[in-house]
Amino acid sequence: SLTATGLHLTLGHNHVLRGIDIHVDAGKTTTVIGPSGSGKSTLLRVLNRLYEPDQGDVLLDGKSVLTEDPDKLRQRIGMVFQHFNLFPHKSVVDNVSLGPRKLRGLSKEEARAVAVEQLEIVGLSDKVDTRPANLSGGQQQRVAIARALAMKPEVMFFDEATSALDPELVKGVLALMADLASGGMSMIVVTHEMGFARTVSDSVVFMDEGQVVETGTPDALFDNASTPRLQRFLSQVL
Ligand code: ATP
Ligand code: MG
Repeated sequence: SLTATGLHLTLGHNHVLRGIDIHVDAGKTTTVIGPSGSGKSTLLRVLNRLYEPDQGDVLLDGKSVLTEDPDKLRQRIGMVFQHFNLFPHKSVVDNVSLGPRKLRGLSKEEARAVAVEQLEIVGLSDKVDTRPANLSGGQQQRVAIARALAMKPEVMFFDEATSALDPELVKGVLALMADLASGGMSMIVVTHEMGFARTVSDSVVFMDEGQVVETGTPDALFDNASTPRLQRFLSQVL
C-alpha cells in the first residue's frame, strides 16, 4: 500500500500542496481528479521524490520513502506521462529493455525476454522491432506503459496518460489501464477521463487548490458530491 500524510510543498512563492493525505491499498486503483493547477502532478512528483515535501511523509508498504535512495524508489514506482519520451532511434523492444538492463541488471537476453513479454501484454507483439515513429500515439503510449511495467514496479502512476492522444486512440489506452487495474496492479491515476474514474477506480480523490477536498468511492463522489466545489467541478466536466 501507499500512504501519504500531511504533505506540504511550496514552490517559489506558491504553496502548492497544503496538507495532502492520500492512500492506495495494494492492488487497488485511486484516481485523482481536480481542476487545472490544483496540484495533481506536483503530488505525484512528491510521491516519487522528484520533489521533497516541506512537511509530511510518504509510506510505501509501511516504510518511509523519504529515507530511501531516490533512484531505487523510482524503480519501485512506474510512471507514465502525457508525453511518452521514447528514444526515437531505438527499436520498441530496446526502449522497453533498456531499464531492466541498466537498472535491474538483467543480461541482454533476459531483458529482451522481459520486454517482449510486456509488449505482448500491451498488445504490441507485432511491433517489437519497429521504431516509435512508425507507431500511432496510442501505440507509443502502450510502449511507454510496457517500459514502466518491465521494471516490475510495485505501483504505477499515470499522469494524464491519454491527454495528448487523438480521441479515437484514447479508448484503447484506457482499456489497457483498466486491464492492469483489474489484474491487481496498484495504481494512482491522474485523469480528466471521468468515465474511467467512475468505472475503474476503487477510490477517487478530488483535489482543489492543493488540498484533498473530497475522497471516497466513485459512487459517493459522482452521485453524492458533498461539497459545492466538487459539485461545480463535476457540472463543468460531465
Ligand atoms: P493540470 O491539470 O493543468 O495538469 P495540476 O493539477 O497537475 O494541473 P500542477 O502542475 O501540480 O497542477 O501545478 C499546481 C500549481 O503549482 C500550479 O499553480 C502551478 O503553477 C504551480 N507550480 C508547479 N510547478 C511549479 C514550480 N516549479 N514553481 C512554482 N510553481 C509551480
Ligand atoms: Mg498536471
